[in-house]
Amino acid sequence: MKIYYGEQTSLEDRTAAVLSDDFKHQAIERAQDIFYKKRLAAVQSAGDWEGMRKAGRTIRAHTTQYLDYYVSSFIRNAEKNGAHVYVASKGQQAVQHVLDIIQNNDAHLIVKSKSMMSEEIELNEAIEHKGIPIVETDCAEHILQTAHDKPSHIVVPALHLDRTAISKLYQQTSGYKGSNEPEQITHFLRTHLRPIFLKADIGISGCNFGIASTGSVTLVSNEGNGRMANSVPPIHIVLVGIDRIIPDLYSLDLFTSLLVRSAVGSKMTSYVSISTGAKDTTEVDGPSEVHYIVIDNGRSSFLNSDFEAMLRCIRCGACLNICPVYRHITGHGYGSIYPGPMGVVMTTRLADYAHVGDLPYACSLCGACDDHCPVSIPLHSLIRLHRIHKINEGYGSKQDARIFSLVENVLSNVALYSIATHVGAFGMKCIAHGKPFITNTTSIAALKSWTDYRDLKVMPKQRFRTWFKHRIAEENR
Ligand code: SF4
Repeated sequence: MKIYYGEQTSLEDRTAAVLSDDFKHQAIERAQDIFYKKRLAAVQSAGDWEGMRKAGRTIRAHTTQYLDYYVSSFIRNAEKNGAHVYVASKGQQAVQHVLDIIQNNDAHLIVKSKSMMSEEIELNEAIEHKGIPIVETDCAEHILQTAHDKPSHIVVPALHLDRTAISKLYQQTSGYKGSNEPEQITHFLRTHLRPIFLKADIGISGCNFGIASTGSVTLVSNEGNGRMANSVPPIHIVLVGIDRIIPDLYSLDLFTSLLVRSAVGSKMTSYVSISTGAKDTTEVDGPSEVHYIVIDNGRSSFLNSDFEAMLRCIRCGACLNICPVYRHITGHGYGSIYPGPMGVVMTTRLADYAHVGDLPYACSLCGACDDHCPVSIPLHSLIRLHRIHKINEGYGSKQDARIFSLVENVLSNVALYSIATHVGAFGMKCIAHGKPFITNTTSIAALKSWTDYRDLKVMPKQRFRTWFKHRIAEENR
């Protein structure tokens, strides 16, 4: 699965497909409402939340500004701890490093904990292509792998499925005989996954934060699977995006709090695992070999650009949880592994204007995401900038260009404006058959999409200018 998988469909088609799927639609609405309330309570209990946001923004902006220094510190310290470190500028290079490690160690079974980076570089597909099984161990990722489905949220990838759909899936595919109670489903999964963990030759994980001062990698999770994938198999491979690096353990304290409160509305998650190198001779548990793959894959193109602020993102998903567009079109409507406001900015930059179609328009520009972002990324301004860049780089729609040029000519010419408003008011009155609103019209294609979902008020006969002129005349009488 690549970052943007929606090339074969338009935003409009994807939206229509989601809107006709009541189940998926309602599942997302329910989840958004729960996340909203939980986040609000977690933020209120944090004390000086705005102060924390400000500190988070400052540290992330500073790290981005000196990214080369922090990435090299991370690599140097990780190597001091005995980690093998590889740098991959492109996704394919990262995949090749992983395949080489698998081949050099004659590995036959891989377990993986949740990693958006692995989705981004299509790692599972490449490993499976070599005939080697790779088993997702995060509960939601395991569900998606079993269902051959795509993630719909960056923190809760199977948000669009409920417990009944999940129990049915395991009954149909994996011999599950229990009910739709989450405890029974997770017990089934634990029993299924435990022997796989014990047999696996390699564990692969992502990295929430790479700590430059210690060369450590951190996983923040609510399931124990991340820690199992990190420590049970003899070899651990970690995929570290260059934008995951933070300066030190003090900043980790701040960022885990910002991340967890924003993501799931809790004060802390069940597991925060910090791994520093392989196990030494005095330790019993842990991998004997660790490999860190430090991946750019387009991130450095954000540096010194209008979109540099996006590198501050800590992948909390709060912008998805508040977004009215995400609420309606769900994660799958975006056609990207990164949905929601952060996804529109990231995907459009990483996948290019030539490929993403109308994706930058999947935003109402309401700005709610900006207020929720724990590191104050001006998301809606970045999305607006994408629209401007897209047009300036020649990827705008020709039809839109013609319409806007016509509108510009009409609005800037008093006589044309007067004629257009008179003709418009008469035309709308005819289409509405004398009613005050146009509803569900098919008579004019351009109005159909609008009136499918909302009523369009008919322009009054008397225009504002005429009304205003009369009013001034009356006042002066
Ligand atoms: S853009 Fe902000 S709110 Fe959205 S995922 Fe990133 S850090 Fe969270």
